[in-house]
Amino acid sequence: MHIPGLAQEYERTCDDCGTSWRVPKAIAHPHMQGLPMRGPAAQAQTEAVIAANAELAERAAAFRRCPKCESGHYKQRASRS
Ligand SMILES: [Zn+2]
Repeated sequence: MHIPGLAQEYERTCDDCGTSWRVPKAIAHPHMQGLPMRGPAAQAQTEAVIAANAELAERAAAFRRCPKCESGHYKQRASRS
């Protein structure tokens, strides 16, 4: 259920050129998966988790820089639109 007023994404504004871009909440606060317990399939599961976490980190990293000037300085605020 959608809760009105709860931000689902953030808006980041570049300090250097003023460009703003939006960041989905799931990307702004990625939930890294923990490594699985030991077991017969642990090896394959561990590799899958590491790959998933790396992909998540890569997606998050793409939003950490201004799309226009690639500055890493920005201000973030919740977006409600
Ligand atoms: Zn910029």
